Amino acid sequence: MAETAVKNLGAVKAQLEMAARAAGREPSTVTLIAVSKTFSAEAVEPLLAAGHRHFGENRVQEAQGKWPVLRARYPDLVLHLIGPLQTNKVRDAVQLFDVIHTLDRPRLALVLTEEIARAGRAPTLLVQVNIGEEPQKAGVPPAETVGFVHQCQDVFRLDVDGLMCIPPAGSDPGPHFESLARLAAEAGVDGLSMGMSSDFEAAIAAGATHVRVGSAIFGVR
Ligand SMILES: *Cc1c(COP(=O)(O)O)cnc(C)c1O
Repeated sequence: MAETAVKNLGAVKAQLEMAARAAGREPSTVTLIAVSKTFSAEAVEPLLAAGHRHFGENRVQEAQGKWPVLRARYPDLVLHLIGPLQTNKVRDAVQLFDVIHTLDRPRLALVLTEEIARAGRAPTLLVQVNIGEEPQKAGVPPAETVGFVHQCQDVFRLDVDGLMCIPPAGSDPGPHFESLARLAAEAGVDGLSMGMSSDFEAAIAAGATHVRVGSAIFGVR
């Protein structure tokens, strides 16, 4: 299984490069995040040994059990939080993660500001947008996104590096990716975290700077 993940990673990278070139983009402008949620440290290690450095987790507690040991061996790895963040987990998240993709409300922005000042450690932050305006989904409504980014910057003094979205299941993701790119341009931020196993090529065509790929690398969860 370990060799399979390394082989799959190679295939995904090749697809990423082709998608980038097809879009007239330099492949190095797209960061591939290997989403390792539900997979063990043992399953992840071969990818680190093969030189991969960006990984994504969706739960703080699960990541805490897995990553400190790997970080000790690979200090230059970059850990991304791509799942919802509760305010009572902010302390742990700021300590553990290098990039947080799921900033989506003022209360969380406030708690992050306080914790970043306290800990003296500032993860890169992306704002999650509920791009399909789905009632059950996390994220800032599209119409409030530009205002929220400015609030984070001007009121909470947070560096916001970009936007993140998870388009509605079962619909063409392309238009949603394009909407997110337009919102980022309007808000004046560069990062675009969008695209998963089934649609990362479309996301790259729309300008993704970070794609989050799980099952295409690690297999079914
Ligand atoms: C699980 C997850 C992914 C990866 O999904 P795959 O379909 O397995 O590639 C990407 N983004 C988020 C937010 C996730 O929770």
